[in-house]
Amino acid sequence: MGIADKIKEILGIQKYDLTTIEGIRAIPIPKKKKKYQNHDIRKDIEYILQRKATEYKRAGQMDLAIECLKKSNEIMPYSAYMYMASDYYRLVDFLKKARRFDEARVEKAKLDLMFNANGLRNDDANRIRKTPQQLAREFGTDLVEMDEHPCTCGECAKYQGRVFSLSGKSTKFPKIPDAFFIYGGIHEGCSHSFFPYFDGESKPTYHRNIVEYSNRPFVDNRTKAQKAEYEQAVEAAAEETKDRENYEWCWEYLGDIAPKSFSGYRRMKNSNSANFQKLCKAALEKGRDIQ
Ligand SMILES: [Zn+2]
Ligand SMILES: [Zn+2]
Repeated sequence: MGIADKIKEILGIQKYDLTTIEGIRAIPIPKKKKKYQNHDIRKDIEYILQRKATEYKRAGQMDLAIECLKKSNEIMPYSAYMYMASDYYRLVDFLKKARRFDEARVEKAKLDLMFNANGLRNDDANRIRKTPQQLAREFGTDLVEMDEHPCTCGECAKYQGRVFSLSGKSTKFPKIPDAFFIYGGIHEGCSHSFFPYFDGESKPTYHRNIVEYSNRPFVDNRTKAQKAEYEQAVEAAAEETKDRENYEWCWEYLGDIAPKSFSGYRRMKNSNSANFQKLCKAALEKGRDIQ
C-alpha cells in the first residue's frame, strides 16, 4: 500500500473502486470480526456498499447495485455492528427485481441457513440460551424491565411492563418466565425487549408502582378494543404475506403485465381495478388464483 492509500485508509476515505463490477468484486473480505470501537459505522465499507446499492438501484443500474449487496453480505458477518436479517435479504429482493430469479433462489437458500424463522442468526439464537447468571453478569444486574407494546398478543399482555428477576432470587420482583432463556422473549417470535433494571436507581418506564404492578396476577389485561386491534393487526399481516407471495409470483411468471412494485400491486388489488382483473385472469390461466 502506498503512502497516499495509507492516509486515505486512516482518514476513512474509501479506497475502493465502486464504479465497476470488477472493482466491487476486488474488495477484500476481512479475516476476522471487527471490534466495536465507538466508531462511525457509516464509514465502514459494508455500510457504504449498501448506500451505493440504493443509489445504483435508483439510477436503474441493477447489476452494480446487486454486486454491492453481494459484497456487503460477505462483509457484514465481520462487522462490529449486528446487522439484521432484512439487511441481508435485500440482495434477494434486488435479484428478483432484476429478474435474476435463479440466483435469487440460491442466495435465499444460503440466507435461510443463516437465519431462523424469527430473523435471528442461527448462531446467535443458540447463544441466547444463556443461564440467568450469565445474563445477569452481562446486564450488571439480576433485574430486567420488559417493554410494553400497545398492540400485543394475549400471552405477552400478561407479562409486559413488569420488572423481573432473572434468577428468581429477588424478594421484590417475580421470576422471569423460562421461555425467556430459550427465545429471548415470552414465546417464539416475541418482539418485546428487555432492559437492565437497577432497583433504587432506575425509574420504571411504564408503571410508577412497579413492585405492585410486577406482582399483579398474570392475566391478560387488554381491553376489548386492544384485543380487536391485535386481531386486526394479525389478519392484516397475514393478508400482506399472501399478497406479497402472489405479487412475486406475478412478477416472475406474468412478465410485463405485473406492476413494477408491490405497493402498486396492492393499490390495484385494493381498488380492484380493471388492470387487476386482467392480472387475475392471466394468473388463473397459468394456474394461480390471486383474487
Ligand atoms: Zn406475544
Ligand atoms: Zn412479546
